[in-house]
Amino acid sequence: MVSYSPITLEEVGSVDITTTDMIPAIVERSKKAQQEWVALPKKERVELLRKLSKLTADRCEEIGEIVHKDTGKPKAECINTEMFVSSSYASYCADWLQSFKFTKKIRMDPIHGMLKLMGRSSVINYKPAGTVLCISPYNFPISIPFTEIAAAVAAGNSVILKPSSNTPLCGEAIAELFRDAGFPKDLVICVHGPGIGDALTKAEGINRIVFTGSTETGKTIMKSASERLVPVTMELGGCDSMIVLKDADIGRAVRAAVWGSFANSGQVCVGVQRIMVQKEIYEEFRDRYVEKVKSLKLGDGWDDPDVSVGPVISEKAMNDVLDAIEKAKEAGGKILCGGKRADLKGYFIEPTVVEGLPVDSEIYNTEVFGPFTTIIPFEDEDEAIRITNACSYALGGSVWTSDLKHGRELIARMDSGNLDVNNLIYGFGIGSTPWGGSKDSGFGRSHGDSGFLELMEIQHIHSDKGRYHDPWWMPYSKGPTELQTEMTQSLFGSRKGKLGFFKHALPFMRKKD
Ligand code: NAD
Repeated sequence: MVSYSPITLEEVGSVDITTTDMIPAIVERSKKAQQEWVALPKKERVELLRKLSKLTADRCEEIGEIVHKDTGKPKAECINTEMFVSSSYASYCADWLQSFKFTKKIRMDPIHGMLKLMGRSSVINYKPAGTVLCISPYNFPISIPFTEIAAAVAAGNSVILKPSSNTPLCGEAIAELFRDAGFPKDLVICVHGPGIGDALTKAEGINRIVFTGSTETGKTIMKSASERLVPVTMELGGCDSMIVLKDADIGRAVRAAVWGSFANSGQVCVGVQRIMVQKEIYEEFRDRYVEKVKSLKLGDGWDDPDVSVGPVISEKAMNDVLDAIEKAKEAGGKILCGGKRADLKGYFIEPTVVEGLPVDSEIYNTEVFGPFTTIIPFEDEDEAIRITNACSYALGGSVWTSDLKHGRELIARMDSGNLDVNNLIYGFGIGSTPWGGSKDSGFGRSHGDSGFLELMEIQHIHSDKGRYHDPWWMPYSKGPTELQTEMTQSLFGSRKGKLGFFKHALPFMRKKD
């Protein structure tokens, strides 16, 4: 499989293809590596995650350049949104593993706590799910799979990675990083090839699927996974709002909006697509924003540090965005800047801002995965929330205000899962916080404690010293049934607190056969 630069359109490398008949052997290798991995003392596993973090940081330029080859991103983005985030996440995983207790005694509720006195206790065991299939998109080809893999591995799993066919070199770079850091050889296996992702979603031996990609593909994968009832985490598309209130710091909000809309050439699931500005400051915000957008330099951002916007990933991606621009014009949107392909060799589109698109038009509520943003004024906050939540996507969003408390209250009314007040997209970079959306943006969470829980099986083990019989065991008879009635009413009903039933319960329960 060949990778082409979206800047030069020339070949930048190639990888071997995996055919579907190789799947059973790959899964077997993965399972063996998982056994080897969990057999290592926890201290050694923590050390390996720390080594991974260090190696990832040390190689940030070398691997950053691979990201640039596959995607055409500017160097600044290759380093900060890919390598920094990955290295920091591996370090977080090491800390998590060091402190996580895979067996926990649980405090039973007060009623069942009485059982403790009778010699009974409960523990929870957290066990690795086994082999995790990670299917990832092209837009953050290192940081998305890397963080999901690091979490899966920290929780004791092995991983089979299926990277996007647009970014195969990045997939290989991740597997190599884990090998070079000293993890068992097959703990992270990377596969490529037509149909391989689909075949793996149905393959025997896959215990979890962590999918990040479009909503459409997510639905297909869920259907396949249902054949073997494999649990899935779905990190899907978005169409995020940025709500700027009249008391916001306009200069800061404008700068953030430019980055939020056009970082990674607008190919960000939680990128800003719908800017809504309170009418009192609308014109000032719009004019300052458009002026800044027009000044962004496009090109090859590896050697030229002043380049802010790279190409989109492929010819198809470029045509999809150009189609969306046409649809926006047909729906009544006014192009404030951009609106066409840039005069460069690769798949570059001029950063595009559309004003006045009707909020009930299809295009206003569709994810456009490229340098395309809309801007509208709004009267009051209820209107802004109503427009936001009318969209079928609910991934991220932001509110801009000088009143933080009010901002938090307002943003909590959004349906989305990743929210910022006076910032953007930030949550993905914080290892300990959950990441994920709802509605068409998916379900389940990666990152943070919630993410780890999705990668493990949870066992409850209740144990009993055997001093007493339970009164609900067979054979049923009048005495024990009356006792249970009395017990229910005394513990939870209007006779609450009358614990006299214990007097005759205990001798009965002590009765031996
Ligand atoms: P995509 O859905 O086209 O592809 C994602 C991955 O799925 C790729 O590896 C692809 O090869 C694989 N795939 C495609 N069909 C498959 C099938 N039938 N079975 C198994 N695997 C299959 O997405 P993309 O274009 O690479 O990425 C862009 C999308 O991802 C956008 O919608 C974006 O919003 C979303 N995304 C979401 C998040 C998030 O955290 N929610 C993060 C990044 C990107």
